[in-house]
Amino acid sequence: MTFSHLSHLDCARCGRRHDADTVNNLCECGSPLLARYDLAAAGKAVRPADIAGRPPTLWRYHEVLPVREEGRVVSLGEGMTPLLPLAALGQEMGVPGLLMKDDGLIPTGSFKARGAAVGVSRAAELGVTGFAMPSNGNAAAAWAMYGARAGLRSVVAMPEDAPTITRAECAAAGADLFLVRGHIGDAGRMIADLIGRSGGALMDASTLKEPYRIEGKKTMAYEIVEQLGWRCPDVIVYPTGGGVGLIGIHKALAEMRQLGWITGPQPRLVAVQATGCAPVVQAFRAGAREAEPWPQPRTVAFGLTVPKPLGDFLILDALYDTNGTAVAVDDADTLAEQLRCAQLEGAFICPEGAAALAAVRVLRKEGWVGEQDQVVVLNTGAGVKYPETVTVTVPTFDPGDSLPTR
Ligand SMILES: *Cc1c(COP(=O)(O)O)cnc(C)c1O
Ligand SMILES: [Zn+2]
Repeated sequence: MTFSHLSHLDCARCGRRHDADTVNNLCECGSPLLARYDLAAAGKAVRPADIAGRPPTLWRYHEVLPVREEGRVVSLGEGMTPLLPLAALGQEMGVPGLLMKDDGLIPTGSFKARGAAVGVSRAAELGVTGFAMPSNGNAAAAWAMYGARAGLRSVVAMPEDAPTITRAECAAAGADLFLVRGHIGDAGRMIADLIGRSGGALMDASTLKEPYRIEGKKTMAYEIVEQLGWRCPDVIVYPTGGGVGLIGIHKALAEMRQLGWITGPQPRLVAVQATGCAPVVQAFRAGAREAEPWPQPRTVAFGLTVPKPLGDFLILDALYDTNGTAVAVDDADTLAEQLRCAQLEGAFICPEGAAALAAVRVLRKEGWVGEQDQVVVLNTGAGVKYPETVTVTVPTFDPGDSLPTR
């Protein structure tokens, strides 16, 4: 049995073909590379019904993942997260078919685990012994943890105001961690310089500069479709920083269509950003094919602080191709939605996920989302990773005091 039907890598911009069995970064033209599979063979090797009996991790889609040898899979049990109905919140918004794909329940507490599991597994399989990357925190934490499990050295640089827990995660995993007084773009330039001086010892694992993290993140779409009984929802709403998840979802939908696993209209894809950093929203509104760098990016939804995504043209393609849209949400609305979700649904989601939920409220008011639409919102991380987003004012008592009734 062929574990992976990976065939080659294609440049997303110039179409040039690259060998998938050597370590690759960007194409000569500067564009990200996309993994391609022999989907005709994969479609013969496995059918949706076969997948149902496999273990509940993202590796259940191994035919369309890039790791060639099953024994090279580095897993912490990631994937097959719940697709939760949000009945109360949906009713309040006027979207009774509201669902949340909850990636807060995944190793390391953010969906970056998907990209890290697949990216690290494949890097180790290709003989890589160490990697370096800039990160807004969650990616560094996930790659450090999976890197530790794979026995790889990890070097990460993150803005000093990234969520503090992610520092502890990197340190705990034994990564070389650097804090930068700046944003992820600044950290990226420092990492690129460091890799240049490393004499080939470190693979560049920056967002979209290696082709396999997108393969991990695309499994969100495979899971959503499988969990809906091999059917697509009407709308998928995604909090967009570097946009890897959105690009991956768009790619997975195309693959599933080619495999014959889905038919019918495509889900409309929505990119959600924060008003403090919305380069994709700005470009979408202008009908542009790429984004302008956002000056002084700032938002409580820290994973969205990406001033100029490398894959901007792929994100915008996904939106145009699916009749999607892009929405910017301000931090106050994001934080209010985070509390609303916890109060009505018992789900403590991350601010990025809360921004995506808040966008549904806006799109419903504008009529872009209809009452009959089935809408899937991606919650990309656990609220417990961001304790500072909730202001808590509670009284303290001494033992023996009598506590007030409400
Ligand atoms: C990184 C991150 C995002 C954005 O993901 P991209 O793939 O970079 O668009 C959203 N939410 C959380 C919690 C993240 O860590
Ligand atoms: Zn190219």
